[in-house]
Amino acid sequence: MSSNFGMVTTRREEAEGFLQRMVSRGLGWARKYSLFQYPFVTACCGMEYMAISGARYDVARFGAEFPRFSPRQADLLMVVGTINQKQAPILKRVYDQMAEPKWVIAFGVCASSGGFYDNYAVLQGIDRIIPVDVYIPGCPPRPEQVLDGLILLQEKISAQTHKLIDHAPPEMTVDGKRDL
Ligand code: SF4
Repeated sequence: MSSNFGMVTTRREEAEGFLQRMVSRGLGWARKYSLFQYPFVTACCGMEYMAISGARYDVARFGAEFPRFSPRQADLLMVVGTINQKQAPILKRVYDQMAEPKWVIAFGVCASSGGFYDNYAVLQGIDRIIPVDVYIPGCPPRPEQVLDGLILLQEKISAQTHKLIDHAPPEMTVDGKRDL
């Protein structure tokens, strides 16, 4: 038995805490090297997105090479390009359909902040409708910047707490229905 900031913990609780930390680290390590991305590509940044998939920049080195074209099979939403107001509900719907745990990268200034399309038709940053984990600047970003953003996300994933079973309730979708 030991005391931790006034709280008494038994050896069994300590052992369980240790096991949970080990499981969390193992899951974090596995998840950061097996990212399945859903590319939501709408505009010219798509050219640089293609560049990272080629042999020269080779995103496969980071375990993130397989795009998935169903959000239910993906855990990384890559938003590549300008998002206009009409596309915004579709993007939100795609995000809602992805299972937890999931992460989002805003690829380029248009996805991050609307870029130079400062007008009523364009969403001024995707973080107005979905949470963003990493913002990659540039118009378009260079492939090295994209890989740097990916490494940043991997560091973030390994620092997070991971559970074998997450009891969080399903999120509500844009139309207020539960996404089961
Ligand atoms: Fe096109 Fe630049 Fe916007 Fe990328 S950031 S979609 S390259 S205008």
